[in-house]
Amino acid sequence: MRLDTKHMRYLAAEDWRVLTAVETGSKNHEVVPTPLIGQISGLKGGVHRSISALAKVGLIARQKNAKYDGYRLTYGGLDYLALNTYRKRKDVYSVGNQIGVGKESDIFVVADEKGVQRVLKIHRLGRISFRTVKANRDYLRHRSSGSWMYMSRLAAMKEYAFMTALRENGFPVPEPLAQSRHTIVMSLIDAFPMRQISSVPDPAGLYGELMTMILRLAQYGLIHGDFNEFNILIKEEKNKEAKEGEENMILTPILIDFPQMVSIDHTNAEYYFDRDVNCIKRFFERRFRYTSNSKGPHFAEAKKLVGKDGITRLDVAVEASGFSRKMAKELEAYMKEVGVDGDGDPDAARGDEESSDEESDEEDHSEGDADDGEAEVEGEDAPQHQASTLEVSENR
Ligand code: ADP
Ligand code: MG
Repeated sequence: MRLDTKHMRYLAAEDWRVLTAVETGSKNHEVVPTPLIGQISGLKGGVHRSISALAKVGLIARQKNAKYDGYRLTYGGLDYLALNTYRKRKDVYSVGNQIGVGKESDIFVVADEKGVQRVLKIHRLGRISFRTVKANRDYLRHRSSGSWMYMSRLAAMKEYAFMTALRENGFPVPEPLAQSRHTIVMSLIDAFPMRQISSVPDPAGLYGELMTMILRLAQYGLIHGDFNEFNILIKEEKNKEAKEGEENMILTPILIDFPQMVSIDHTNAEYYFDRDVNCIKRFFERRFRYTSNSKGPHFAEAKKLVGKDGITRLDVAVEASGFSRKMAKELEAYMKEVGVDGDGDPDAARGDEESSDEESDEEDHSEGDADDGEAEVEGEDAPQHQASTLEVSENR
């Protein structure tokens, strides 16, 4: 789904208030009744003008339910609210190219006011298979159509919490910079996914490093759950100490993508652990023709490492930090239900292989913007173009 920021500058202060009111109202209403929007926004002069302005550009959508007419927030509307928060906090100044379209996320390069590039990850749970979810499940009971919003927010919160904890403990992950709603902002890693790398000078060395990382995660009580060639970025740096004739590139794996992390105490921990290990084994065999002599690492071995050397368990720490066990359960149940099971599933449809432009038919109402060359979905080789700044009108 594209991220078209061009309407931002035309929204007036009241429009933002109305948009926020629709978001607030969505917490308890599948369709937010128009009078409630008026009430929450507290605008004396009425909300109809703002409502039609927002609906026209697809940030909210008119809906009827059995009893009344009202509005719901679209993904576009939620994107705008998150971007506006980042703009105000000075986390993001401009939005550039889309660099990834995953099954459940869109990834954009953004920049701060100084022009330093960052990455904006927008979680879009429910984009593909939301309609298959049975509405009578516990975790949907009170939220039915709002659940994509809630679940996407949980995914972003979870990812941010784990990225922060991992980073603080010296793991090679991007630097988490900000989080709002269903999105996070992190540092840009100047590297390609391992998936795109055809050969490496020392496969055994890299393989060893990745297995060590899996075991180190275990020591902290964690299993990544989607540890594969898509979620490991390979950073290449010049080795300044290399002597003549020696290999002068150092490859550093950087781990990304954390919404499916699980505790090593999870009921299916062994399954996830083995899957992570085997994904790497299989990839190294196929791509680099490298097979390790050792069979492991095995789950039993990993289990013994948990908490070793007085290390803090991050599965426990994250739970205490705001991403609660209840939230984790809700998210997991939802992901299971819609068949979100990581990039590693060979049968899963992947956006990033063919760079398909998956427009969400339900949520994307932008029309008549064929002239917009700014925030389009673009492939990796697309020329860099001017980023669009998050300008807003003066009356804020
Ligand atoms: P998904 O959950 O959709 O798989 P990921 O977090 O794995 O999302 O990101 C998808 C792709 O976007 C990655 O494979 C990578 O190419 C790119 N990407 C994500 N985060 C970063 C980052 N911080 N720096 C550079 N590229 C990134
Ligand atoms: Mg991924």
